[in-house]
Amino acid sequence: MTARIEPGQAIGVLGGGQLGAMFASAARRLGYRTVVWDPDPDAPALRQADLPVAAAFSDASAFERFSESIKAATYEWENVPFSVGVELEHRIPVRPAPGILRTLQNRIDQKRFLGERNIPVVPFHALHSPDELIIPDDIGYPALCKTATSGYDGKGQWRLNGPADAERLRDLFRHQDTQGRPRDGWVIERFLAFEKELSVLVVRGADGETRTYPVADNVHEGGILRISRVPAAIESRTAEQAQALARSVVETLNGVGVFCIEVFLMPDGRLFINEVAPRPHNSGHYTLDACTVSQFEQQVRALCGLPLGEVRLLSPAVMLNLLGDELTRVTAGEGLERLLGTPGTKLRIYGKTTIRPRRKMGHVTFLAEKTETAWEAALALRSFLANSRSGISRPRE
Ligand code: ADP
Ligand code: MG
Repeated sequence: MTARIEPGQAIGVLGGGQLGAMFASAARRLGYRTVVWDPDPDAPALRQADLPVAAAFSDASAFERFSESIKAATYEWENVPFSVGVELEHRIPVRPAPGILRTLQNRIDQKRFLGERNIPVVPFHALHSPDELIIPDDIGYPALCKTATSGYDGKGQWRLNGPADAERLRDLFRHQDTQGRPRDGWVIERFLAFEKELSVLVVRGADGETRTYPVADNVHEGGILRISRVPAAIESRTAEQAQALARSVVETLNGVGVFCIEVFLMPDGRLFINEVAPRPHNSGHYTLDACTVSQFEQQVRALCGLPLGEVRLLSPAVMLNLLGDELTRVTAGEGLERLLGTPGTKLRIYGKTTIRPRRKMGHVTFLAEKTETAWEAALALRSFLANSRSGISRPRE
């Protein structure tokens, strides 16, 4: 086992979005100094850092500054360059290990890795060139095509309802190819009529100890997370199966850190892994307000070799994301007073300076004695947002 990194020392995070900011604030609470590296000078976590590094990930002097000033590093999302992780690993511990980052940051590699180890993934077909874009019979329509790399929040995905859609997408990809766009391929999946989308957070220490949070069930709109509810509205047997499956993923990866496993629950009770993230997750934000130890504090603990924290739920919780201009709308007029004055309601604002459609700007967590009460409150806020919508930019679904 590697030596413990003591409070007072500095730790680093690659990526400076809201996840990096919440990591930095959890680290600071435990007495660590933080170094955040992000190419965007406006990234919110840079303002939380003791030492902000605002530079491209390819910047060699930024690499020196970052690696020289910290004892260990992690990342806030999987689209940071794998090569930076490998370079860092020559000098300091990087958790989860860059080899895991490489496997998970490509959907083809991720699904193959898990599938070959008998972990049930959504059935898929790997594509390496636009000419291969046909929908095999065992996938069928409706299908979903996803870029193998760099997709998030439903970006880089196309739904195909029939052969004409496949033809159009083939033309689009061929056109992009003539413009010299680099390619890592795509996956084609069946568009599944799942009963519920679940997610499970697993924390694993360097000694192999794992802790598994309660299961969340999630509502997405247009490929982007809208609502997470904990505990999930599923049978306890199903929840236990989902937790066991999630644990088996992290053990198979031999991961150290926080992982989120997204799972589809089918009407016949089968579970399929949708995707695995080697980091805290939007659907785990409830842990900030509804658990004794948040997913971000667990990330700090696993990184520094501290004892893992408990994963107990202190209260049912339902989280609603505030996207695009919704944060402004929800806090306009009397809105802020109303939200801040409602018992059991926690508002978090990420501090992003630019509003873009569907960008995650903040979230609200509703805590209540009964899950249904928190759920109703979240639905009421969602309808308020739908009714006060200024433009016509409705999401995909
Ligand atoms: P991202 O990296 O953008 O989160 P995901 O693969 O998780 O990509 O897809 C985003 C969302 O799109 C999922 O949470 C789910 O709601 C929907 N989705 C993804 N794959 C499928 C599928 N095969 N069938 C049905 N819905 C899907
Ligand atoms: Mg996802």
